[in-house]
Amino acid sequence: AIEINQINLSFPAKQGQQQVLEDISLVLEQGEFVVLLGPSGCGKSTILNLIAGFTHPDSGKVHCQGKSIAAPGPDRGMVFQQANLFPWLTVRDNVSFGLRMQGAAPERVQAEVQKFLQLVGLQAFADHYPWQLSGGMKQRAAMARAWLPNPDVLLMDEPFGALDAQTRLMMQELLLSAWQQTGTTILFVTHDVEEALFLADRVLIMSAHPGRIVDEVRLPFGRQRDIETLVQAEGYSEI
Ligand code: ATP
Ligand code: MG
Repeated sequence: AIEINQINLSFPAKQGQQQVLEDISLVLEQGEFVVLLGPSGCGKSTILNLIAGFTHPDSGKVHCQGKSIAAPGPDRGMVFQQANLFPWLTVRDNVSFGLRMQGAAPERVQAEVQKFLQLVGLQAFADHYPWQLSGGMKQRAAMARAWLPNPDVLLMDEPFGALDAQTRLMMQELLLSAWQQTGTTILFVTHDVEEALFLADRVLIMSAHPGRIVDEVRLPFGRQRDIETLVQAEGYSEI
């Protein structure tokens, strides 16, 4: 589980300090899909950055699997609004970059890449370069890259925010399908209410200035749509 306990965080502002997060506490249970929903500037990205280990709180605790988070690591995968793929590497080499840096055996790299490209439906594009991909495909490659180390949590910061409405819907379905296959814990940030309700087991609602979690909605009836069928019917390889 991921656990955040009574976090306060401020950044330097023109006059003194600006309190960005106030008394934030949350727990992500293993395998849960939680959405953080709130207006621009309420501190959603800052919460992800805390869990990722990019930034640290003024007070309070952040734990991942019982351990205090000190620095970024592959146990916390991150997907941003922009895919940030290396333009000079193929999809295959982008997705396997971390694993190759760790000196993994080529057979293992091959097998893992195969598995995660399949998860996001990009097998046919393994040897393509980023400039040959659509926006949705780039995000799928970024998802495969973050997912490959089998992270304790996948942190997604408005990953579909730059995509058109139809691609976005297909990506949401693809993500749910991949999540159901892997059982990975996901913390997903958006300011789109519909997206939050479609994806989440649980939605945490934030308000701004300072950023606080003001409400929590559980979606106990499960998702209404048969995702597998939809993904096949709509042919997501064309995203
Ligand atoms: P958006 O929906 O626009 O992405 P957000 O909810 O993700 O917004 P954050 O990016 O977490 O909001 O920012 C929250 C507040 O903290 C903002 O007022 C922002 O200007 C401020 N902030 C974030 N990072 C820093 C930083 N490194 N230094 C100073 N201020 C920062
Ligand atoms: Mg943000």
